[in-house]
Amino acid sequence: MSRILIAGNWKMHLNVSQASILVHRLQERIKTHRDVEVALFPSMLAMQPLSMQIDRRKFRLGAQDGHFKDEGAYTGEVSISMLRELVHYVLVGHSERRHIFGESDETIGHKVAAAVRNDISPILCVGETKDERSSKLTSQILHNQVTAGLKNVTSREIKHIVIAYEPVWAIGTGDIAKPDQIASAVATIRSNVAHLYGVAPSKRIRVLYGGSVNADVARAYLEIDGVDGVLVGGASLNYHSFSSIVGSAYRLTRER
Ligand code: PEP
Repeated sequence: MSRILIAGNWKMHLNVSQASILVHRLQERIKTHRDVEVALFPSMLAMQPLSMQIDRRKFRLGAQDGHFKDEGAYTGEVSISMLRELVHYVLVGHSERRHIFGESDETIGHKVAAAVRNDISPILCVGETKDERSSKLTSQILHNQVTAGLKNVTSREIKHIVIAYEPVWAIGTGDIAKPDQIASAVATIRSNVAHLYGVAPSKRIRVLYGGSVNADVARAYLEIDGVDGVLVGGASLNYHSFSSIVGSAYRLTRER
């Protein structure tokens, strides 16, 4: 069984000192656990100081984004290669990057490849909009996003990838996806991976769920067949909620 991954995406929240206080509080509440991994995704600015502060037995760091070119004249960007040895994960294709910043499937494919090339595990985010779901396009969208996101990933590299199913309509909205909707989307993602890399990698790859996860619903989501963890936005900014979500994962591993 895979380690459960609980990931906290802080988005564009918390300045350096606020980020440090949150880590301090989380550090008091979250313990080292063999079967549960906790990853924090702060702003780029807080990354370096937090890398000195975090207890690495308890936390891993992840970046919310990064440029796929290693270096060059790209004003304002931080490259994924600059994050090497600083972060363990990088989010790629988050719906806010796709929909607000217009990131294309092609760019996302390059970012996934840049992460793998730099020994960072990409968390490839995929998910349909509300309109796409009502038009019964969910499977097609997932297929397109998974295929394009993994375009440059070889069969030897697929083990480094994590996929997060994040329906756009459930992100930051409080709209709660039903467990059967999640189970079916996760099965579609795994079958796409199976088609590309074979059945064994499709079973091994970690698939997370993200979209308005909070302490009340985390346990139910973690119990869904095929879900190996959660990607948490809003609720990860509150130490009480986030440590409760991590606590749900601890309890689940004890009962398994
Ligand atoms: C996210 O940022 O990936 C996310 C799922 O946000 P929220 O939990 O706030 O919906």
